[in-house]
Amino acid sequence: MRDFSQNHEWLSINTATLRKQWRLDRIVDACAQRGIRAIAPWRDQVAAVGLQPLAQRLRDHGIVLSGYCRGGFFPAADAAGLRAALDDNRRAIDEACTLGAPCLVLVVGSLPGALDGKPLHRDIARARAEVRDGIAATLEVARRANLPLAIEPLHPMQAAERACINTLEQALDLCDELDPARSGALGVAVDLYHVWWDPKLAQQIARAGRARLLAFHVCDWLTPTRDLLNDRGMMGDGVIEIHKARGWVEDAGYAGFSEVEIFSEHWWSRPGDEVLDTCIARHRSVV
Ligand code: ZN
Repeated sequence: MRDFSQNHEWLSINTATLRKQWRLDRIVDACAQRGIRAIAPWRDQVAAVGLQPLAQRLRDHGIVLSGYCRGGFFPAADAAGLRAALDDNRRAIDEACTLGAPCLVLVVGSLPGALDGKPLHRDIARARAEVRDGIAATLEVARRANLPLAIEPLHPMQAAERACINTLEQALDLCDELDPARSGALGVAVDLYHVWWDPKLAQQIARAGRARLLAFHVCDWLTPTRDLLNDRGMMGDGVIEIHKARGWVEDAGYAGFSEVEIFSEHWWSRPGDEVLDTCIARHRSVV
C-alpha cells in the first residue's frame, strides 16, 4: 500500500469542495500553489470560466484531472427527454476529452422530476432500465472518444432523486452486462461516502479489480448526519475506515488519485485556504 504520510502526490481535489468560496480558476491556482497535482471539476464550474481557458490553465500548471463530474441522469418522462439526456452526455464526453480527463463520472439518475420534488412516476424498475439503455448508448460514444465511463453508486438515501444504482455490486453487475470483456471502457467510481456501510464492500472492490476501478473518492460520514446531501465530513471527523478501504482498492490494483470530495455547508463556510490545507493534512494523516 502506498505511503501517503510523507507527501500529497496522490491527492486530488474534487472542486465541489470549494465551490462556494472560489471560482474554478482560483481553485486551480490555489491547488497549484500547494503542489496538488490533480483536480476533478464539475461542468457548471467549468462553464463559468470557459472550457478552453481552463484547459490552458491546467496545462500551464501541469495539473491533471482525476475525473470529470459528471454525466448521467439518463431516465426521463418521455422519448424527447431520453434523447436530450443522451445529447447532454455526448457534450460531457467532449468536454472531458478536451480537459484530458481519465474518466467521466456517471451519477445515473432515477425517478424523473424527483430532484425537483415532483416525481413523475414511481417505477424505479423503469428508471433502472432507462439507466442501462442510456449507459449502453453512451458507452458507444465514449469508446469512440477513448474515454472510460465510471458509474458512481450513490448511498440509498439518494435512490429517488439522484441514482437508482446504489451498491457497488449493482454497478458491477451492469458493467459485466454492458462490457463483459472488461475492456476498460466501463467501470466504477468508488466514493466511500456512498458505499462505506456496505457489508459486501471489500468483496465487491476485489471483484472490480484494476480494470473496473476508475476513481476513488474520500470524505467522512458524520454522526449524526444533518443533511442528506451537504453534510459530508472531512476525513478523520467521522466513522469511515478510510485507510482500510484504501488498502482494499490498492490490493485490487488501483494506483490512482485519492479524490477528496466534500459537500458541506460547514466547510463551505470556512476560508478556502484553510479547507485546502486541512485536506492536505488529513490526506497525509488519515487517508
Ligand atoms: Zn463522488
